[in-house]
Amino acid sequence: MQHPTVAIIGGGPAGLLAAQRLAEAGVTGVAVYEAQATPGRKFLVAGHGGFNLTNGEPAAAFPPRYGARHGEFNPFLAHFGPDDLRRWAADLGIATYVGSSGRVFPLEEHKPAHLLRAWLQHLAALGVQLHTRHRWLGFEGERGIRLRNEHTNQEFSVQPQATVLALGGASWAKTGSDGSWTAEFQRLGIECARFEPANCGAEVTWSGFFREKVGRAPLKNIGLRCGTVETRGEVLLTDYGLEGTPVYALTPAVRAALQTGSPALLHLNLKPDLAPPALLARLQQARAGRSLPEVLRQTLNLGPPVPTLLRELATPAQLQNPVELAKLLQHLPLSVTGLRPLDEAISTAGGVLFREVNPHLMLHRRPGTFLAGEMLDWEAPTGGYLLQGCFSTGAWAARGVQQWLGL
Ligand SMILES: Cc1cc2nc3c(=O)[nH]c(=O)nc-3n(C[C@H](O)[C@H](O)[C@H](O)COP(=O)(O)OP(=O)(O)OC[C@H]3O[C@@H](n4cnc5c(N)ncnc54)[C@H](O)[C@@H]3O)c2cc1C
Repeated sequence: MQHPTVAIIGGGPAGLLAAQRLAEAGVTGVAVYEAQATPGRKFLVAGHGGFNLTNGEPAAAFPPRYGARHGEFNPFLAHFGPDDLRRWAADLGIATYVGSSGRVFPLEEHKPAHLLRAWLQHLAALGVQLHTRHRWLGFEGERGIRLRNEHTNQEFSVQPQATVLALGGASWAKTGSDGSWTAEFQRLGIECARFEPANCGAEVTWSGFFREKVGRAPLKNIGLRCGTVETRGEVLLTDYGLEGTPVYALTPAVRAALQTGSPALLHLNLKPDLAPPALLARLQQARAGRSLPEVLRQTLNLGPPVPTLLRELATPAQLQNPVELAKLLQHLPLSVTGLRPLDEAISTAGGVLFREVNPHLMLHRRPGTFLAGEMLDWEAPTGGYLLQGCFSTGAWAARGVQQWLGL
């Protein structure tokens, strides 16, 4: 049995970047062990609906995107920030551009699969060994790890000088990130926050009539608020409730509100760019005798599904009164009964608590074992911040390994 110098467990973006950085730094004997038949499955899934590698906003605006973890993320982002990520893609032959939303995408002709293929070829050229269908089972002794070769069903252990675990969060289990690694962490007494869905849809109990009539329909350029947190963008009404970037961005606030044991209240602003007095004036000027859909379309350019949505959530008396209607159009209350199931979520909150690792992302309880990516307890909104967080922690863990190896 040949023992790798560094074992990287998990072939997602965090693990693969850690492997690349170590190999580029001259470390020989870097081996990646991935449980699935191919690496980067969630990375490829991320590419299905608009692949945001990172975000074009100024570097100083990044750390607050990691919420309560912004302090921890400062050094990670300073070490490998959004510009480094774009340069990394360019070095693999993948040019990127900043879209109108600020999100950074690979150019149209570069599919995520091209990027992954170029990346894996580069890793192979660097001498990184990739062992697919190799599942990490747990720790052994001071430095060892136990693995199962799922081709042969044989279990074995290796004794690397350092290990990087990048096992992912707990959504989209079919991509390999099923969160099952937490059992071994619990066994060792390493504290993990429970996984919760992040960046996911919110459930609203619509009437049967509403579900049938509206189905899936977008509400463009709206404002959405939960408590004091406000977002803007396009929301999609679905048969289960709401989804879309503004909803995803509010999941931490919605989750916190739901934890109090009652439904979470969202407020929808269907005319966020119109001052309330101007909105009221337009409604008051509308000719008498017009139907609600006519008034909304002709005075405010609000077509379907807005009238049906208003009828679903307000009383006929409220809708007939211009003052009440004006208020509803900018503060339409929506009662959210829950978040969508964990497995559907784009990302997960929860994971290994930051107090379990030192500033180099090394486990206090297992010197020489470093963590990276979504398995750590952080969350961030969509818009490129998730992958950026995984890449930044992957690069930072690799730096920690280099120091550990005395390089
Ligand atoms: C639908 C969808 C769209 C997304 N879109 C975007 C986007 O546009 N922009 C963005 O920034 N982010 C996006 N994300 C999020 C992003 O893909 C993830 O945050 C990122 O892939 C997490 O990287 P990771 O390396 O931490 O973990 P993962 O990518 O989850 O990789 C972990 C790897 O570890 C392996 N593994 C797990 N357990 C074991 C074990 N016991 N032994 C061996 N291997 C194991 C898994 O098989 C997996 O390959 C999206 C996610 C989804 C689901």
